Amino acid sequence: MHVPGPVLPALNSQALLKGQTALVTGASSGIGRAIALALGAAGADVIVNYVASPADAEAVAEAIRSGGRRAMTVQADVANEEQVLAMFASAVREFGTVDILVSNAGRECNAPFHEMSVADWDAVINVNLRGAFLCARSAVREFLRRGARPGISVAAGKIIFTSSVHEIIPWAGHVNYAASKGGLMLLMKSLAQEVSDKRIRVNSIAPGAIRTPINTAAWSTPEAYADLMKLVPYKRIGEPDEVGRAAAWLASDFADYIVGATLVIDGGMTLYPGFESGG
Ligand code: NAD
Repeated sequence: MHVPGPVLPALNSQALLKGQTALVTGASSGIGRAIALALGAAGADVIVNYVASPADAEAVAEAIRSGGRRAMTVQADVANEEQVLAMFASAVREFGTVDILVSNAGRECNAPFHEMSVADWDAVINVNLRGAFLCARSAVREFLRRGARPGISVAAGKIIFTSSVHEIIPWAGHVNYAASKGGLMLLMKSLAQEVSDKRIRVNSIAPGAIRTPINTAAWSTPEAYADLMKLVPYKRIGEPDEVGRAAAWLASDFADYIVGATLVIDGGMTLYPGFESGG
């Protein structure tokens, strides 16, 4: 069967995602907030998921509305099946459908392995992995129900997981987190393999060190920042906007042939920086 490539709009950022609706989890802060704003700036209407900060989520939605797009906030714990089902139901009820899921909610509960509690383990796996599964399952169900929307996007739906360089780099003291992101890598690839023939595109972004609340301790003092830079060949921390812009592009038809890939956004952190001086 011959499937033609996309007829692309001009590279006008407002047209990138025109007519599409995106749901972003964990969108009241950090990378999720930046992704929600970038998708809105690229022309999408946005559902801003949050778990605990309604005012912050509303501020994100208001910023998107002030740019001319529609936005609503939805509270849901991504690890809770009923709440995820209800979130997608209200998104479809209010906005008609969902074209793009950015499964971004994540957390860390760090501990030396021998001291790691079951609660620490479950907290991270439940949000980072079970939450990704539940949100992606609802998105795939909606994409299959609705099918393609010619003229809106050549794909029938797009899923982007926020993974991490720790789907590649082991992380002592953070075994639960690295296990969740390593698991997310094969969740993403296996799902991409399973649904690509339905024209559903599944990919991940893998940030390195980005300036957000999740890792304040790693960049907020000069000493911590200098230490962090030993791990970053590009010698600066990343900003949330840089991840937002990459996600907007990856969700667009400009990236239509990118399937089952992880887009690493890390200033070179995965380049074995210990070998910078010859090893
Ligand atoms: P953040 O703490 O600002 O964002 C995490 C968001 O997830 C928060 O808004 C939080 O409320 C939300 N969240 C947590 N549990 C939730 C739940 N049960 N249901 C719904 N939302 C929930 O930190 P961030 O850096 O913006 O993290 C976003 C994503 O980026 C995470 O998946 C994280 O693992 C990943 N990441 C961050 C970095 C970095 O350097 N900041 C690097 C690699 C990956």
